[in-house]
Amino acid sequence: MKIVRLVYASRLANDMGPDALGKIIDVSRRNNQKLGITGALCYSPRGFLQILEGPADAVNELYRRIVQDPRHAKPTLLEFAVVPFREFESWSMAYIRTDELAAALLHKYSSGKLFDPFRLSPEQARFFLLAITQLRANHLARQEQAARAPARKSARKTSRAKKR
Ligand code: FAD
Repeated sequence: MKIVRLVYASRLANDMGPDALGKIIDVSRRNNQKLGITGALCYSPRGFLQILEGPADAVNELYRRIVQDPRHAKPTLLEFAVVPFREFESWSMAYIRTDELAAALLHKYSSGKLFDPFRLSPEQARFFLLAITQLRANHLARQEQAARAPARKSARKTSRAKKR
């Protein structure tokens, strides 16, 4: 079956509460896994930027649902293309907030002073989402390593104690 990539930008709804984002991510990860959809969602004060990839029918159907969601406004398609492979294959929905990103990275993809998803070309949007997803992956890998480190340390201590 054909794999498609869909990229869109949207504005935040005025009344979007603080819990709304968490709920969107939770439901996205749950649904996307079932639908065979992968991708990334970026939240910025100027709006959302999302990339969805997967079977054409599933991506189309999901986008129809997303467009009707009152938690955002003016969803605007930046790209819809048939692609040879997935680029976000490990993510049911990677999630990144621009306030967690370095200003230099945002500047790299901004034509103006402020990062605005609506001003990105399809290629810029894709490269930006790939770059920030890689950062997220590196961050998660470091966290995992740090979590394992104390366990390794105490295992080394135990084995030294046994040798003594
Ligand atoms: P449930 O989450 O159980 O919701 C049932 C219904 O209630 C849906 O119609 C839903 O739209 C509505 N709803 C739920 N909470 C609220 C709320 N707080 N305010 C208003 N209406 C609400 N969904 C995905 O599956 N995958 C995605 O990748 C994805 N990305 C999204 C990106 C953005 C920027 C936004 C705003 C939404 C996104 N959604 C995504 C959510 C999507 O629009 C649908 O809400 C969701 O797919 C419905 O899932 P569900 O049928 O399991 O219903």
